[in-house]
Amino acid sequence: MSVTPMMAQFLEIKAEAPDALLFYRMGDFYELFFDDAVAASAALDIALTKRGKHLGEDIAMCGVPVHSAENYLMTLIRKGFRVAVAEQLEAPEEAKKRGSKSVVKRGIVRLVTPGTLTEDTLLDARAHNYLAAFAEVRGQGALAWADISTGAFHVATCPRVRLGPDLARLGVREVIVVDGTDIGPVIEDLGAAVTPLGASAFDSTAADGRLRALFDVGSLEAFGAFGRAELGAMGALVEYVELTQRGKLPLMRPPQRQSADDLMAIDAATRRNLELTRGATGGRDGSLLWAIDRTVTAAGGRLLERRVSAPSAVEGIIRARHDAVDWALSEDRLAEDIRSDLRRAPDMDRALSRLSLERGGPRDLAAIRNGLEAADSLYQRVFETSCPLDVSNLIGQEGLRDVLARALVAEPPMMLRDGGVVAPGYDAELDEVRTLRDEGRGVIAGLQGQYIEETGIASLKVKHNNVLGYFVETTATHADKMRADDRFIHRQTTANQVRFTTIELSELETKILNAGGRAQQIEDRIFEDLRAAVLDASDAIFAAARCLAELDVMTGLADLAKGETWCRPRVDSSRAFAIEGGRHPVVERALKRDGAPFVANDTALSADGGAAIRLLTGPNMAGKSTWLRQNALIAVLAQMGSFVPADSAHIGVVSQLFSRVGASDDLARGRSTFMVEMVETAAILNQADDRALVILDEIGRGTATYDGLSIAWATLEHLHDVNRCRALFATHYHEMTALASKLDGVENATVAVREWEGDVIFLHEVREGAADRSYGVQVAKLAGLPEAVVSRAREVLNALEEGEREGGSKPKALIDDLPLFSAVPTPLAAPVRDSGVEARMKTVLPDALSPREALDLIYELKALT
Ligand code: ADP
Repeated sequence: MSVTPMMAQFLEIKAEAPDALLFYRMGDFYELFFDDAVAASAALDIALTKRGKHLGEDIAMCGVPVHSAENYLMTLIRKGFRVAVAEQLEAPEEAKKRGSKSVVKRGIVRLVTPGTLTEDTLLDARAHNYLAAFAEVRGQGALAWADISTGAFHVATCPRVRLGPDLARLGVREVIVVDGTDIGPVIEDLGAAVTPLGASAFDSTAADGRLRALFDVGSLEAFGAFGRAELGAMGALVEYVELTQRGKLPLMRPPQRQSADDLMAIDAATRRNLELTRGATGGRDGSLLWAIDRTVTAAGGRLLERRVSAPSAVEGIIRARHDAVDWALSEDRLAEDIRSDLRRAPDMDRALSRLSLERGGPRDLAAIRNGLEAADSLYQRVFETSCPLDVSNLIGQEGLRDVLARALVAEPPMMLRDGGVVAPGYDAELDEVRTLRDEGRGVIAGLQGQYIEETGIASLKVKHNNVLGYFVETTATHADKMRADDRFIHRQTTANQVRFTTIELSELETKILNAGGRAQQIEDRIFEDLRAAVLDASDAIFAAARCLAELDVMTGLADLAKGETWCRPRVDSSRAFAIEGGRHPVVERALKRDGAPFVANDTALSADGGAAIRLLTGPNMAGKSTWLRQNALIAVLAQMGSFVPADSAHIGVVSQLFSRVGASDDLARGRSTFMVEMVETAAILNQADDRALVILDEIGRGTATYDGLSIAWATLEHLHDVNRCRALFATHYHEMTALASKLDGVENATVAVREWEGDVIFLHEVREGAADRSYGVQVAKLAGLPEAVVSRAREVLNALEEGEREGGSKPKALIDDLPLFSAVPTPLAAPVRDSGVEARMKTVLPDALSPREALDLIYELKALT
């Protein structure tokens, strides 16, 4: 069976990108065929149609219009697809010249994948879009990552155990691995796409050559001494970028090596649990980042996200960042001016990246111009002050800035082909042809008046359309008069109108057309020149953009510290963790919205002698989790370089941060919650060192009481004896409070509540000592459990407590006797024969009792025992 030439071409191109959906350009549409069409029509919710037959079968087809293709692309990428875009590489006329059956040449110009996006519409302006590559050579692992929309390129050694945490820290969108590597379990939670590449892409020798060529250096040593695995990872990443961009490499800055030791290690579970950059619903809302972000530029927002994701563990760096915030606070007027300048600074990183990939337009050039101008005026504001940031990179591009300022109009159009990009006065020839073009138009407008006068036809008009070009139009009634004048050459008669042209008009038209075409050519050339000049200066522009982002983060954090009355933390090499008047930045913000106050709390761990563990007990809803997390967040904030929500804070550098909550529901992943809890706890016990800060919330809750208690108990002992770390441990197992007297480094704390008329009032105050009871029944009542259930629960509780007091097997017997599931309001079955309680209970109809009466009854019963 024969295959049409077009189908043959389609199949050939499709074979180049078998695992991507192929967008096959046909005129104003991208068409998809076969399985691609079926998948895309479902994912995009667009109509699936048929077009012809292939090997006797209908060909499924769907299509998206080119002008709105980006939206569709975004949806497909979000849903995990990769898309290959095949364009027409010649005009249809060219193909026709080769023969009537010839198909227009097409080819893939780009492979769109989650990690290689550059379009503003496809990207979140305030977040990085990282692509990573993981390589292993003889047991040494390395991770390279890049954001091709900003040119950032980094590499670090990365043993496989750290791969998950590192990918989580970076929020990687796509990770490249050697074909056959199984990293599924590592990235299960991250939502990143995994792209396998053949082993040859990771070859370290080839990588060395590839990188030297890319950065145009004789040796990579200028950037650092890289190991084989690091080279392999970087090489694979660059190869993949070339592959997806079809040879057009984006600007990439020389790789920066990052040492994991310099950062606070935070694993994926901890990040999720503390909601550092993503809130519970998966977006930014409700996260720490959301609560502290006062940056005014997209690049500043991205830098802040990097800082929150990777707090520093280097005292000097942390202190320098605090110095900067301190300075901005002391110069608050100046800081406000800096922020208003920054508001006008565009996203130079992303503009540069698009220009380098030939996807940039006039507005990207204008972004560079405006950015350099903003950088310059910021430099003027800051350079003579005592600002601790190095702002020297803000200047040095005056030449380029001035050229751009002279060359571009204030607000250029989106597309170069729209014309009017280059400012008047920049290029003499351009000015000349533009005048010709505009004058021609003026002369034509004048001609109408002249013709009216000469012919005496007042309704005569000079018009333009694409078929006839310029023409003179009159109504049929006047046509004869014009036909008589041999200057007017008849071109067309329509229902009501007759159209003529004149030699004068045609000549002017040619002139206008030529001038217009020439103007476009000149604008194209100037655009190219400017683009090249900008790319030549890319290193300096990136440096200036980075400096703008630093200023933004600094002044943003100062604004936050001032507005929320946060304090500068003292960070040193001790093992202190002393917070006075600490608050939870996110909960506080939520409460403020509802007009409720947040109760500040202290934390004092003195770890100089070894472990320092605070064991926190208290009823549910008292504020245990909030206190635990606020301390972890204060450590993150302090080490990322921010002030902290507290009256004072002294923190010895935290090298690793761990946070776990017991028995969070994880049904979606189909793992037993208890199993997850234990796997996560094991990771802490195996990894935490004496500089770690560990937050454990109700560990052991996911199993039966005695199991859970034993596990929590042993975990605490291990943290104390082996990990010797700083830890906050919340539990509802009151038995554990006995550990405080057994282990030197463990102290009890509790969240105070007050009992009032049988209800519990939460004070949210953390105090020394252990909780006396758990108030579970009262909390249940607050939660709106039916009265009958609450009073029944009180009865059971009393019975149990009584049994406990009497010791032995009594509680068990008691419980067995209590018909837990008997239908309320059946009066209690007799737990103990002949007791006064029993006699009294026989008279009780729980349904008839008010809560108050029920409580009184309990007091009465209690008195009988
Ligand atoms: P627990 O872990 O003890 O069950 P949570 O920490 O979840 O309790 O706190 C329950 C609620 O109490 C929070 O949602 C918050 O609204 C409020 N809360 C907690 N801590 C404070 C505080 N320090 N000040 C004011 N309200 C608080």
